[in-house]
Amino acid sequence: MQVFVKRMPLAGETIEAPDFSLGYGGKGSNQAIAASRLGSTVNLITAVGNDDFGKQQLENYKRNNIDTHNVIIGNEISGIAPIFVKENGENSIIIVKGANNELTSQKVDQYEKIIAGSKLIVLQQEIPLETNNEVIKIANKYNVPVLLNPAPASDEVSLDNISKVQFYAPNETELARITNLPVNTIDEIKSAAQQIVKAGVDNVIVTLGEKGALWVTQENHKLIPSKKVDVVDTTGAGDAFIGSFAHYYTSGQDIETSLSAANIYAALTIKKRGTQKSYLSYNEVEEELK
Ligand code: ATP
Repeated sequence: MQVFVKRMPLAGETIEAPDFSLGYGGKGSNQAIAASRLGSTVNLITAVGNDDFGKQQLENYKRNNIDTHNVIIGNEISGIAPIFVKENGENSIIIVKGANNELTSQKVDQYEKIIAGSKLIVLQQEIPLETNNEVIKIANKYNVPVLLNPAPASDEVSLDNISKVQFYAPNETELARITNLPVNTIDEIKSAAQQIVKAGVDNVIVTLGEKGALWVTQENHKLIPSKKVDVVDTTGAGDAFIGSFAHYYTSGQDIETSLSAANIYAALTIKKRGTQKSYLSYNEVEEELK
């Protein structure tokens, strides 16, 4: 649920908001839908609650051509996230994970075949961290690349226990939390990202809002600039970036080309209100870029 506010309420204060909008979400869900709308085949492993939100979410996946055979119907409530969007497009989010916690590491074995047959596994931190670690182990066994978007940031993850994945894609805030290093300048962001590379990650991709994304490897670093657009609502831009990058990369484009295309895709989504509502299809992107 997005509530559009002039400012956030102070402690103990009640304020009125002119408008709100209900939409589907969850980081994994958003990323899956961005990739699917661009034409990728997406198999989603997740858990929804046995409630109206869960049923609607399943229908939403089906409408977006996502394979739902591996979506667990849990006993908890469906995960939800109230999002507060200020007039300058900035947002603040509270997450209730609900049924996502039911996707435990013990359940991962049954997905070995799907993981082994995938071109890329995309993970976020809205399910238990041990579950992610189990998935990464299986993916590594079959040489399937993994993209980990360490969001929301977790106090349980530090430089000492960072996952050894091919792509690690935090935003600036998440990078600062994980490394405990300053991220005020591109140089500082590069140094912090290099610590993650040292921990065993091949590619660190730091999303930088309107500045685009910084790609850091052991040998190199490169700032991939974003497209200039009028900001309406940045909610879900990060997920649009990750989902579209996954699409472009698994379609056979190289990393740099995929990052440039993801910057453009994410920038186009912030011209409209909403998260998944603002995600464009392949044809809509072509139309925008004419
Ligand atoms: P959110 O939590 O709002 O989804 P995030 O903090 O995870 O976002 P950002 O780094 O803000 O992610 O943005 C992700 C990507 O979206 C950027 O790398 C860029 O490609 C695009 N983007 C975000 N804001 C802007 C902007 N103002 N102008 C152009 N592109 C933008």
